[in-house]
Amino acid sequence: MTDKLYSTDAYLDTCAARVTDLTPLGVILDRTIAYARGGGQPGDTGTIITDGGVLDLTDTFIDRESGSLIHQLAEESAVPVVGESVTVAIDADRRRRIMRTHTSLHALSGIVYTHFDAKVTGGNMGDDGTARMDFELDHISTDFGQEVEGLLNEALAAGHDVHVLFLPRDEALADPDLIRTKANLIPAEVDPIRVIDIEGVDKQADGGTHVRTTLEVGTVHVVKTESKGRANKRMRIRLD
Ligand SMILES: [Zn+2]
Repeated sequence: MTDKLYSTDAYLDTCAARVTDLTPLGVILDRTIAYARGGGQPGDTGTIITDGGVLDLTDTFIDRESGSLIHQLAEESAVPVVGESVTVAIDADRRRRIMRTHTSLHALSGIVYTHFDAKVTGGNMGDDGTARMDFELDHISTDFGQEVEGLLNEALAAGHDVHVLFLPRDEALADPDLIRTKANLIPAEVDPIRVIDIEGVDKQADGGTHVRTTLEVGTVHVVKTESKGRANKRMRIRLD
């Protein structure tokens, strides 16, 4: 199993690692800072630096069949050797933007739940500061979007700390906030459960990378509201 350093420190931009296996899909390392895409968050890109040169890391993901964390290299890249020591360097600006976006989505879901009692039905984010989130709402309007935008930016500007918690499974499943976000659907073998707690705003089980304080997110614009069907309304956002 690859040690996922990003799980406890989202701000690492480089790390030393050792190549443990090579597969047709890509390279497996003993440890990494590159986030494996999932939960609506894109995988990381960057470089893997070896004795032989700099390899182009184009995506990071979990291979469903083996469960391995795969570092996908550009087709023309050379391939490292099993056992070789390498350095992983992610595209830090891109990742920081994704961390801000991911944190803003959590805050958005907390705001819409707290003020309008609507749960999230889905969501996704790009690497360009844009994202979408779907809510269990019967109606949506431009005015509603503007109201949410105001509440969201107010909460972000208040500077709430963002904590990464590892809660014993029993404790997590008994937490009302985590019940709301369906933590009970997490596979039974996952214990402890990783939780992102934006103090006073939102708390949910999550594997992604987030910033330390909502101040880092900056300003968020609700750029579009649309209906995706009954009790399913979409909000598109863009970060400054
Ligand atoms: Zn999340």
